[in-house]
Amino acid sequence: MRVRRIPVTPTVPLTISLLILIICNLACSSQAKPVITPTLSTFLITTPVPTSTNKTVLTLTPLPTATLRPTATPTPVLTPTREPWVAPGQRYYFPVQPPTVARYSNEHHDYPAADIFVPIGSIVVAIADGIVDEVSRVDRWDPRTNDCAYRGGLWVSIVGSDGVRYYTSHLGSVETGIETGVHVHAGQIIGRSSHTGNATPTPPHVHFGISHPTFPGDWAIRRGQVWPYKYLQAWTHGENLKPVLP
Ligand SMILES: [Zn+2]
Repeated sequence: MRVRRIPVTPTVPLTISLLILIICNLACSSQAKPVITPTLSTFLITTPVPTSTNKTVLTLTPLPTATLRPTATPTPVLTPTREPWVAPGQRYYFPVQPPTVARYSNEHHDYPAADIFVPIGSIVVAIADGIVDEVSRVDRWDPRTNDCAYRGGLWVSIVGSDGVRYYTSHLGSVETGIETGVHVHAGQIIGRSSHTGNATPTPPHVHFGISHPTFPGDWAIRRGQVWPYKYLQAWTHGENLKPVLP
């Protein structure tokens, strides 16, 4: 008997295999699909952002200008320290500040000058712009000898740019930097008041003398040549009255 071999068609198994392959491929491809983490930029570019959302994003990432540009912060401008009583255009100042603490008169013993009575430690200033002429930082006065040259105790004399010499004495201290040849401006602090020299036994006061410029050690002239009262009155009120020398 002849056996006829019936060819086995792979149709059914092949179809099943293809189906399995397709399903597997789909499953695998979905797993292998790259996960894209949207960045802010891609999100903003590819997706229209509602105004409210956009506002929220800006709120979450505040970028203040001052943080990004610290150099934009204004640099403080350092201005020279100026005494509070110094006013623009005023060229003459009462020797003690404020003038309201002072008591003085139009009289002085023996020669033209003024004794300005003020509390110890009152501020003594340069009357005008000028150059420091002489300075005494040590009280050499001795009551036993009463030497005229040392009667001022601690003192400063300044030759103003107006050609007038201003002498303030019986000070308790002379300001640092006030030395012969140093330029000072009107109203600048030059020392503090007290009662050194022959004022030791008297109430504290600043002896004030106006004179011609003179040579160092000329105590007879530096102590005063001009009655200062009317000038002290004028300077108290901010009037630029220049002393008239004899
Ligand atoms: Zn005096």
